[in-house]
Amino acid sequence: MGLEAIKARVAAAEAAAGRPAGSVTLIAVSKVQPLDRVVAALEAGQQVFGENYVQEAAGKWPDLRSRFAGVSVHMIGPLQTNKAKLALDLFDAVHTLDRPSLAEKLAKLAQARGAAPQLFVQVNTGAEPQKAGILPDAADGFIASCRQMDLPIAGLMCIPPESEASSSHFKLLAEIAARNGLSGLSMGMSGDFESAIAHGATHVRVGSAIFGARSYG
Ligand SMILES: *Cc1c(COP(=O)(O)O)cnc(C)c1O
Repeated sequence: MGLEAIKARVAAAEAAAGRPAGSVTLIAVSKVQPLDRVVAALEAGQQVFGENYVQEAAGKWPDLRSRFAGVSVHMIGPLQTNKAKLALDLFDAVHTLDRPSLAEKLAKLAQARGAAPQLFVQVNTGAEPQKAGILPDAADGFIASCRQMDLPIAGLMCIPPESEASSSHFKLLAEIAARNGLSGLSMGMSGDFESAIAHGATHVRVGSAIFGARSYG
């Protein structure tokens, strides 16, 4: 599909939703993609990228950041507490703040550094047992406890269940954000980013539609 085509579709979805041009940040999800594809996107002017794995990002982005100015890299995969420190060296944003122990760890690290990354609380909108994230009923309390720790929360993130239409999950995430005074909404992937934008997404995470299918192994 390609970067230019996806940027055009993001712009069209913004316009269709009556939202200002540029109000949605397109995160190009580069996990597991061959380096030449990532470099091509950088050369085409893309500056915001998403990664799922700390080790993979550590092997890639320090070098790419030295070659391309203005890049920001967002962590969108599960973050182990023992990798939180390394993650803060690597990432400008973390979309997967999904449990109290990670919040406590990030709060401590942020205090020591005097700076925190942009943070999104991951909400398990489908209450799926195998999926990470704060359950919808617990979200208000978790957000309040993060604020008590002086952790600045930019917004919420969700990964809807694969077997369901994502729109009801986008709606639920937007409701939880609104009642907590949060403006950031990280939702929408290759298959549903236009619907996410219609429901207020501020950050869409698009991988395969930009770079092509990922081949693992
Ligand atoms: C891999 C991934 C994406 C991108 O998925 P595509 O379907 O390739 O667009 C988005 N969000 C998360 C959390 C991911 O792990």
